[in-house]
Amino acid sequence: MIDSHAHLTSPQVLPDVDAVVERAKAVGVETLINICTDRPSLEEGIKLAKRCKRIYNTAATTPHDVEEDGEAFFPLVEKAVSDLVAIGETGLDYFYEHSPKKMQQHYLSRYFELAKKVNLPVIFHCRDAFEDLFAISDEQYRDRKAVLHCFTGTIEEARGCLDRGWFVSFSGIITYKKSELLREVVKYVPLDRIFIETDTPYLAPQSKRGKQNEPAYVIETAEKIAALKECDLKVVEKVTGDNISQFFALK
Ligand SMILES: [Zn+2]
Repeated sequence: MIDSHAHLTSPQVLPDVDAVVERAKAVGVETLINICTDRPSLEEGIKLAKRCKRIYNTAATTPHDVEEDGEAFFPLVEKAVSDLVAIGETGLDYFYEHSPKKMQQHYLSRYFELAKKVNLPVIFHCRDAFEDLFAISDEQYRDRKAVLHCFTGTIEEARGCLDRGWFVSFSGIITYKKSELLREVVKYVPLDRIFIETDTPYLAPQSKRGKQNEPAYVIETAEKIAALKECDLKVVEKVTGDNISQFFALK
């Protein structure tokens, strides 16, 4: 099984990261995509990937932090591209709007340019901003590889992603009692367009709510997808594993 989105080198996880990786391995979650969002997490991510073969890194400033850290971190991402399997998470978050919308759009454009230049796929974070994400992508990132991480939108928004050839990634949120509408989206998106992720350390699945999330818990989300798709867990593991491996060109 693959966890396609975990912040393993974030300050919350890093002190315990080797134990976290071991616990994931022990339940068959052997391949991890580590999302680096700033200088320390990227530096630690590169070290981590050197000692753990099945850990791969991505990097970008999140839309939340572009105002504060976007300028400083961008050249470090550029310099690290040979150590990365994707650019991200980048995108737009108008729900929190921690950074001004215009600035979020500016960095999204810059990361599009970089992704195109180095031929890496993009991981999107998008909240309450699909209209702009679709418009900007259609203009600047047409017919290119992307995944919408931690999808919490509507069926129409999922269709917008699928129409653009993107993948849709589901987290532990689909296991929450209140996520009825999101479970309808899971049923709607074809399995061969789905990624599974934890978004560690956030969003622990229902049975672990309140705890710090970790990649070992991705199985609960996979089981939920299997139940919604009325198929075997093994099928979910195989198909999403193939989706993720091909997308990131994992070796
Ligand atoms: Zn994330």
